[in-house]
Amino acid sequence: HLDRIAEVDGGLGAFLHVAGEQALVSAKEVDGALTAGEAPVSPLAGVPLALKDIFTTTDMPTTCASKVLENWVAPYDATLTSKLRAAGIPILGKTNLDEFAMGSSTENSAYGPTRNPWDTTRVPGGSGGGSAAALASRQAPLAIGTDTGGSIRQPAALTATVGTKPTYGTVSRFGLVACASSLDQGGPCGRTVLDTALLHEVIAGHDPRDSTSIDAPVRPVVAAAREGAGGNLRGVKVGVVKELHSDSYQPGVLSSFDAAVAQLTELGAEVVEVSCPNFEYALAAYYLILPSEVSSNLARFDAMRYGLRIDEGDMSADQVMAATRAAGFGPEVKRRIMIGTYALSAGYYDAYYGQALKVRTLISRDFDRAYEKVDVLVSPTSPFTAWKLGEKVGDPLAMYLSDLCTLPTNLAGHCAMSVPSGLSADDGLPVGLQIMAPALADERLYRVGAAFE
Ligand code: GLN
Repeated sequence: HLDRIAEVDGGLGAFLHVAGEQALVSAKEVDGALTAGEAPVSPLAGVPLALKDIFTTTDMPTTCASKVLENWVAPYDATLTSKLRAAGIPILGKTNLDEFAMGSSTENSAYGPTRNPWDTTRVPGGSGGGSAAALASRQAPLAIGTDTGGSIRQPAALTATVGTKPTYGTVSRFGLVACASSLDQGGPCGRTVLDTALLHEVIAGHDPRDSTSIDAPVRPVVAAAREGAGGNLRGVKVGVVKELHSDSYQPGVLSSFDAAVAQLTELGAEVVEVSCPNFEYALAAYYLILPSEVSSNLARFDAMRYGLRIDEGDMSADQVMAATRAAGFGPEVKRRIMIGTYALSAGYYDAYYGQALKVRTLISRDFDRAYEKVDVLVSPTSPFTAWKLGEKVGDPLAMYLSDLCTLPTNLAGHCAMSVPSGLSADDGLPVGLQIMAPALADERLYRVGAAFE
């Protein structure tokens, strides 16, 4: 994999940092233990992985693709990082992302974009475009992403890989640099549903160091993936969300989705249409809640504690802070800090943030009603396939539309997966099928995903 990275990553930009020596040391430890006759520490011992550069690591930089954290090395490992190490998984390096995970194309990275291996003039999706491109270009067999509004699932769809956003609270956020704390969730990415399930079980689990971590057993996703691989979905009820199927989606995405639904029916699933009327407000609610949390979370980059510090000598603390933040944050991050600060300000709080929270509750209720009737919900993962680099950078609203189908799951704290659903008849580019399930029912995603793939 290190050879492959050296060969192809110059043209793709999936990695921000490659940790070849450390990865080899960790792989040799696994070899040594196996040669000495010890049992492997996990089913994935020795299988290398690409880590999104938003999880802290003590032996390599954590930049969040921001100038504000250039060359910053964390004093502690994220819980997820520690779990990978304990499972004998060598970390190949840190992957590119939109700055602080804000974006849908990986073009908002301060270190340059990642390109889609299917067509290098196109984006790999975002914010986890680096992890998805590393998988699709065979630079890594496993990767880690984070999903705040779709950043695992949408890049998976645009690169024909698999990605899961686990139930909120089931994968520790300790050491995951916060974007929007009530939405962020780390999760597994792979090229097959079973690989993804194996990684899911390694990284999930209760963590007392994360106050929103759920104290519940890890869901049996590997067993579910094995069961699903038999291709039998009899007894499974699948709901097609009416509101996530629109004429504004690309025709090739819609025809791939219709074929996927026909395939689920052939596998024995009972497919019905369900309505979630409040999903149409998810985008508006998300783009108030997320910036509000961002404006609060990113206040920690104050030029005093971490990373970049611009101090021309005769400056006051306020001036140092302002100069550092002006130089350190990119335009999308600044946009969201300003929107969030406005939405939380006295006089506007109820009108914006308060209203958005109410919509969030209505969306959860739509899900609850739907799950009274069905086991899983399905939709296209993204309304469109990979677009050209630069095509949407000047139009944030057009960019935000790519999250239409993935956002409701984050707002409800549920789980969802994207699995490859063939190539679009429009342009020959990958399309993803999104499978959604209630909180703490992640195994349903894997059963249906494995049967479908
Ligand atoms: N694309 C969405 C956004 O820009 C989702 C980001 C994410 O999931 N980290 O906020």
